Amino acid sequence: MLPSFFIMADKLDISILIPVFNEEDSIKILYDELKRNLDSIYNWEVIFINDGSTDKSSEFIKELINQNSNIKLISFLQNRGKSEALNVGFKECLGKYVITIDADLQDDPSEIKNLIAKLNDGYDMVSGWKRNRKDSIAKTLPSKIYNFVLRFFSGIKLHDFNCGLKAYKKNVVKVINIYGGMHRFIPIIAKQNGFSKISEISVNHRERKFGQSKYGSSRLLHGFFDFVTVLFLNKY
Ligand code: UDP
Ligand code: MG
Repeated sequence: MLPSFFIMADKLDISILIPVFNEEDSIKILYDELKRNLDSIYNWEVIFINDGSTDKSSEFIKELINQNSNIKLISFLQNRGKSEALNVGFKECLGKYVITIDADLQDDPSEIKNLIAKLNDGYDMVSGWKRNRKDSIAKTLPSKIYNFVLRFFSGIKLHDFNCGLKAYKKNVVKVINIYGGMHRFIPIIAKQNGFSKISEISVNHRERKFGQSKYGSSRLLHGFFDFVTVLFLNKY
């Protein structure tokens, strides 16, 4: 007979992975929104990856853990970046489907069921597309150019490679290894690993209500070098 742990893992529909760097005001609201959207449909777990927050994020997550049985917390002692946060979530998650969602409430949990429905049309991964993006032009314009370049080099027809809200079949995330700024290129890395059935749906996007964006203009230059790394790793 299998130990009960394995039986539970087998029944888990969805793992929600949430990278958190100083998002104390959003944590509880986000969990409540997830609960409202998922409880009646799925058996789900949340893995918060606290990426070295210096605010009360970790305390608030622990409070939620005291009241709910489907939450896990992984904490880094210092800030290691969104890629490493997602990477450890990819290793630990148990659900049949894996969702990544930003902690800052910009992504809308009501889209999760739509992403899963699209996955079930036969895709390995489905990316959100922030079609009506609620960010400043300093972000949206470079992003348009960047997405054009990525489409051109990768042949993957996505409008929004770096949307924080994405859905995967479990076997896809288990082969992904990312660090630095590589989370921006996950669709390309998935394709390099043989998962080429990649699609998108447009998703509701909201303004950041609390806290600050963690990425300034330096992301443009870093993004370029990370892109070269991703292409290089594939070639050699
Ligand atoms: N994040 C993280 N580590 C970092 C930077 C960001 O875990 O070093 C998380 C952050 O808390 C949020 C998500 O990654 O949940 C996206 O970050 P942000 O909203 O600042 O990015 P933007 O929407 O401005 O591109
Ligand atoms: Mg954000």
